[in-house]
Amino acid sequence: MTIPFFPPDLFDDDEELLLDVVAEVATAPEQRFILGSRTAELEAAIRASVGAADAVACGSGTSALTLLLTAMDVGPGDEVIVPAYGCAPLAATPVLRGATPVFADIDPWTMVVDPVEVEKLVTERTKVIMPAHMFSVMADMPALRRIATDAGVRLLEDSAVGQGAVLAGRAAGTWGDAGVYSFVQVKAFGMPGEGGLVVTNDPALGRTVRMLRNHGQDGRTRFLHHRIGYNSRFDEIMAAFQLHRLATFARRLDRRADIGEYYTARFADLPGVVAPPPGRDGRCFYVYSLLADRRDALRDHLTAHGIGCHVYYPAPLPHQPAFARHAAPGRDWPWAALACRRQLAIPVHPRLTDAQVEHIADEVCRFALSRGVPMPTEELT
Ligand SMILES: *Cc1c(COP(=O)(O)O)cnc(C)c1O
Repeated sequence: MTIPFFPPDLFDDDEELLLDVVAEVATAPEQRFILGSRTAELEAAIRASVGAADAVACGSGTSALTLLLTAMDVGPGDEVIVPAYGCAPLAATPVLRGATPVFADIDPWTMVVDPVEVEKLVTERTKVIMPAHMFSVMADMPALRRIATDAGVRLLEDSAVGQGAVLAGRAAGTWGDAGVYSFVQVKAFGMPGEGGLVVTNDPALGRTVRMLRNHGQDGRTRFLHHRIGYNSRFDEIMAAFQLHRLATFARRLDRRADIGEYYTARFADLPGVVAPPPGRDGRCFYVYSLLADRRDALRDHLTAHGIGCHVYYPAPLPHQPAFARHAAPGRDWPWAALACRRQLAIPVHPRLTDAQVEHIADEVCRFALSRGVPMPTEELT
C-alpha cells in the first residue's frame, strides 16, 4: 500500500463536470474564454462567501500579490516586511517591484511570522506588512492588524493557502487591506490549471487591481490604458468549473479538518514529535506539518512504509541564492532555520480513507515511541 502525499485522483469526482464545462464554454456563441460572465459569477460567489467588498480573479496567487503590491504603489525605496520562512513569491514579488523584502522570523511552533519580530522591523520606509498563513495555521492577524494600523502601513494578507479558514469569526483573506487566494491544484480550493483571486474591502484597491490584471484597461473602453498593467486574466472554463465546486468546498475542508484533529489527538505527548496547535479557529488544514527532532529519520521511516511525505522549504528565504543579496547583512532567523531542519508534512487531503489516516498516524507514533532516548524539545517552549 502506498499513500501519495497529493492525491492522484484529485478531480475524479468532477470528470464529467470538467468535460461539460469545456464543451459549454468552447461552443458558446460568444466565444469568450477569459474574463466573461462565469468569471464574474465566481468572483461574486467568493466575495459573498467571505464577506468582502470586492473579489478580482486573476492569473495566479503570485500574480495576485504582484497586482496588489502594484496597486499599493510599492516600488524602489520601499520596504515590505515578509516572513523569513515560506514560499518564494513572498520575497520575489516585492523584489520584482523594486522594493526591499525585510525578513521577519517566525513563531517556532506555528511557523507563521511572529508579530513581535514584525513590529521591531517597522521603519519609515515600511510600506506594506505581508504575512502568510502556513500549512494549517493562520498568521496572528489581530496583532498584525494592530501593528499595521499603528504604523500607518498597508496589510497584505497572503492567504493563498487559507481560503475557507476563519479566525475569530472573520474569514482568512479579509483581515488585511486585501488578501489573496490561489487555485493551483495543490491548494485546498485547487483546480486543474492556474488561477488566483484578490479579495478586498477597499473598493478603490479592487478597482485598481481590476484594471491592472488586464493591461490597465477599465473594462468599458477597449485600448484605453489608464495604468501600466499586466496580463493576469482568468479562464472561463476554470471559472465555470470552480463555480460548481464551490458548493462542495466546505465539505472537503471539513474532511481535512477532521483528519487534522485526529492526527493532533494521536500525536499529543509524543517524544520528539510536535503536532500543530489543536482546534479549528484560525486553522486551514492545507498541509499538516509536524516538527520532528529526527526529521530525516521520520521521513525515511514513513517513506519505507509507503507514506508520502514532504519537506517544505529547505532554507529560510533570506538564505536562498536568489534573495540573499536582498537580506539585511548580519541578521539571522534562528526559528526559521530550525523549522527548515524539523518540518515534515504528512498527507491530509480529503480523498484519504479512514484506514489510510489511521495507518499514517500509527506509523508516526510507532517511530516516535520506538526509538531510544528522545532528544530534548525545550528549545520550543
Ligand atoms: C501557493 C502560494 C502562493 C502562490 O500561488 P500560485 O497560485 O502558485 O502563484 C503564494 N503564497 C503562498 C503562501 C502560497 O502557498
